Amino acid sequence: MDYSDKISHQVASIPRSGIRDFFELVQGRDDVISLGVGEPDFATPWHIREAAIYSLEKGHTSYTSNLGLPSLRKAIGKYVKDFFRIDYKASSEVLVTVGVSEAIDLALRALLNPGDEVIFHSPCYVSYLPSISLAYGVPVDVATKKEDGFALKAEMLEAAITPKTRVLMLNFPTNPTGAVTPPEELEKIAALCIKHDLIVISDEIYCELRYDGADHVSIASLPGMKERTILLHGFSKAFAMTGFRLGYACAPEPLIEAMMKIHQYAMLCAPITSQAAALEALENGEAAMLEMRESYHQRRDFLVKRLNEIGLECHSPGGAFYVFPDISKTGLTSQEFAMRLLEAEDVAAVPGDAFGEAGEGFLRCCYATSFEELKTAMLRMERFVQTL
Ligand code: PLP
Repeated sequence: MDYSDKISHQVASIPRSGIRDFFELVQGRDDVISLGVGEPDFATPWHIREAAIYSLEKGHTSYTSNLGLPSLRKAIGKYVKDFFRIDYKASSEVLVTVGVSEAIDLALRALLNPGDEVIFHSPCYVSYLPSISLAYGVPVDVATKKEDGFALKAEMLEAAITPKTRVLMLNFPTNPTGAVTPPEELEKIAALCIKHDLIVISDEIYCELRYDGADHVSIASLPGMKERTILLHGFSKAFAMTGFRLGYACAPEPLIEAMMKIHQYAMLCAPITSQAAALEALENGEAAMLEMRESYHQRRDFLVKRLNEIGLECHSPGGAFYVFPDISKTGLTSQEFAMRLLEAEDVAAVPGDAFGEAGEGFLRCCYATSFEELKTAMLRMERFVQTL
């Protein structure tokens, strides 16, 4: 049967993910050292897993409120107040979702009418562009630059705003560059959002993973911004809970209510076992999280040093667990570099162009991989670069 006229045009227009293509090549190859997948190499801390097990033992296997367990929403409200210094009402301004992934989809679908423009900064997380298109929005890509440490600057944003711009998507620290926009620049960006009446979807999933003693500043905490920001956060990264699929959105009640209209039918609620685990993470998970962060910090420093020694220029990113070295001087495209590195040395890293055109000439290396593997990967990469 020919299915081409059976699939929605909107879905058919979405290109395949560059990451997916690349990783299909690596599937089942145990000899490969992967710096590819953006996932903590730690198992979820034991006390968090235990909370999930205990919740099952107690027979808690039902649906929860569509918004999420009241106890979890209360804990999220407290955590967000302590960490981001923003007050949200647990009863109406917090929505528990199936990962930040679901929250991104809900936020875009809740806000956009067909043809509305959404500005995002690139290189960026692979889901943004397709998610905007699937919500019938028009993606407007603002390319950030290596010279600026891939941080978004207000002047770049201003140049991209048109009368059709409705939403700005931010992601700091950024996947794939680890970039962080300094608070002074964030204030200028906030002023533009207020001037042009934009809603901000701020994906802050890496916010705990900040290095060099820097504090995270959310755009939602700036004057006049809470009312126009949907703050997204989750448990996958800092608490090493990717498989639990749990995230949340904090926003003014009418925006949460709009997202709920979709969530209640599409998802009903997030899984109760994951919600029990997330509650434990918020109440008792800080020490384990700080330990993991310290380990990432050491690995970041090692990788940045080694990549620069190898001759692949690499800035030291302020957060997340990625580095984004410049491979352009090798004369290879990012696809060629990644493919040849894989063939010659069994090291997998993601070609930068998978994260948008602005990523061409770069490679994303995730350092949530053991020190031993990172050391071996760098020796192999050095040997590979010397052959070019
Ligand atoms: N946002 C960014 C920037 C990410 O890098 C990721 C995962 O890599 C996600 C969202 C998805 O997170 P979750 O596991 O909470 O769905």
